[in-house]
Amino acid sequence: MLAIRYNARSFSSLKTTMNKSMNPAPAQILDGLAVSAAVLTSVHEAIAAHVRAGGQRPGLAVVLVGEDPASSIYVRAKRKDCERAGIQAGDFDLPFETSQAELLALIDQLNRDDKIQGVLVQLPLPPHIDEVAVTNAISVSKDVDGFHAFNVGRLALRQPGLRPCTSRGIVTLLNYYGIRIKGRHCVVVGASNIVGRPLGLELLYQGATVTTCHRFTEDLAFYVRHAEVLIIAVGKRGVVDADWVADGAVVVDVGINRLESGKLVGDIDFERAAAKAAWISPVPGGVGPMTRATLMQNTAEAAGIDVAEPIMP
Ligand code: NAD
Repeated sequence: MLAIRYNARSFSSLKTTMNKSMNPAPAQILDGLAVSAAVLTSVHEAIAAHVRAGGQRPGLAVVLVGEDPASSIYVRAKRKDCERAGIQAGDFDLPFETSQAELLALIDQLNRDDKIQGVLVQLPLPPHIDEVAVTNAISVSKDVDGFHAFNVGRLALRQPGLRPCTSRGIVTLLNYYGIRIKGRHCVVVGASNIVGRPLGLELLYQGATVTTCHRFTEDLAFYVRHAEVLIIAVGKRGVVDADWVADGAVVVDVGINRLESGKLVGDIDFERAAAKAAWISPVPGGVGPMTRATLMQNTAEAAGIDVAEPIMP
């Protein structure tokens, strides 16, 4: 196993918080439903003020190819969020057989449409379409999902433009509750292009010390045990054992899994993790709504409208 030496000073505060004898009370909840509602209110107010001042209402083109049931649900929810935020949604539902050339032609048209400030293409796309080509065809200034290579590159270079919604939404959630990220050891489990990687960059941008774990990580338990802030984004129930969570840690669960009973759960056993953590995000009602609200925030910002980030009153 890779030997890692941790800075003694940075972990002294963690050890204090983790002192078993303190036996922390069950975790406080990182309430994504409440915070996302506050973000949507902020977006709504900013857009209303912009429109009152004679500005144009922002438009978001939501493109769905095919009829994947999960994607259809996400897209319907995003269109509802647009209504709540005061954003004009443009619906582009294309058949599964749509060719890559046809989709790229639509994106080109939307890129040139000055009533549209954001273009969102719901992923995954049918297998005959190259997702990378499509993502990178969206105008950088309309890339409200933040997945374009240019926008991810800017985040890596500390010049953020439009930032990926899930990772930005997690930072908004932590900021809302005044949870410090700067200088702390954040462990991200999962390294996908849409969550884990941009999240590592986002946390680094926020001044955290970041460890990213993935399917090839040896001894995942070791890293989890040393996490002050633990963020799990794998999509496998139980991938992180709640026993590994350090007392007093902050736990953010991005994973979404459906049990045989139909119940939606995250990647970690919530009850057991909540008994050890200081803060924890539930599934559902944690990161999911934050991702959606951040999409609205990004769309307003793509239209040049500043949105005030809510903090706990
Ligand atoms: P993905 O399958 O693209 O990536 C999973 C990552 O987990 C990979 O980097 C892989 O290396 C890692 N991994 C797999 N097995 C592992 C193991 N045993 N130990 C450590 N790492 C391991 O998934 P994704 O698109 O990043 O999504 C992850 C989860 O987050 C899914 O459940 C997805 O539904 C959910 N998700 C939620 C939101 C939200 O807004 N709540 C947004 C996006 C994704």
